[in-house]
Amino acid sequence: MLETNADDSEIAKFSALAHRWWDPESEFRPLHEINPLRLDWIDWHCPLAGKATIDIGCGGGILAESIALRGARVTGVDLSDKALAVARLHLLESGAQVEYLKISAEEIAAERPEQYDIVTCMEMLEHVPDPASTIRACAQLAKPGGTVFFSTINRNFKAYLMAIIGAEYVLNLLPRGTHEYAKFITPAELGRFARDAGLDCIELTGMHYNPLDKRYSLGRGSDVNYLMCCAKTT
Ligand code: SAH
Repeated sequence: MLETNADDSEIAKFSALAHRWWDPESEFRPLHEINPLRLDWIDWHCPLAGKATIDIGCGGGILAESIALRGARVTGVDLSDKALAVARLHLLESGAQVEYLKISAEEIAAERPEQYDIVTCMEMLEHVPDPASTIRACAQLAKPGGTVFFSTINRNFKAYLMAIIGAEYVLNLLPRGTHEYAKFITPAELGRFARDAGLDCIELTGMHYNPLDKRYSLGRGSDVNYLMCCAKTT
């Protein structure tokens, strides 16, 4: 049995809020608002219809379900029982089909190596003790020629101001304590972990929130939130 690369207090934090996961006005509002952007971005890089896809740290299934509704075969994994229960329940409402499993990234990677065309791991790496291990697991899950998508938060003074002070204390977009500065990951670190795992970075894009019109957008500048698309070449 592999030792689990998870922080119990992080899992507990998401479990405590899980019943509100699909309420677009809840603590999960930012995930609802960014989802169409990231979904289109993933679909643009790698058309989803018919693809074998796995979503690591799927939570209540906002991304996993939307990928399934674009015609992909989707597995979603997380370590929060409550989030997974909410995700399974929501399938009844949406009619989507997703296989939800409670298993760590490392364990599913050992069980199903090279089985997925697409691997997604979004807004999750900044909550795990050893993100390099999660990234290696994501790389292992991808077929040769497959595509792996990550998103996380950069670590610098602006990211501290925007992602913690701004989002948690000023704008109240997220509950206080959602994010811990020390766990943020720079694009250079993410790129290095990805390369060490056999992945090539194809694109890095920033994700921006405009507090005036309350809208998110993708574009240049990865100094706070960002997404990375990687290819598994070998
Ligand atoms: N990826 C989803 C949810 C992000 S919230 C989305 O972007 O919509 C972060 C999720 O990561 C939570 O569901 C939490 O339970 C999960 N998580 C945190 N640490 C984890 C770990 N070590 N293994 C698996 N899931 C983890």
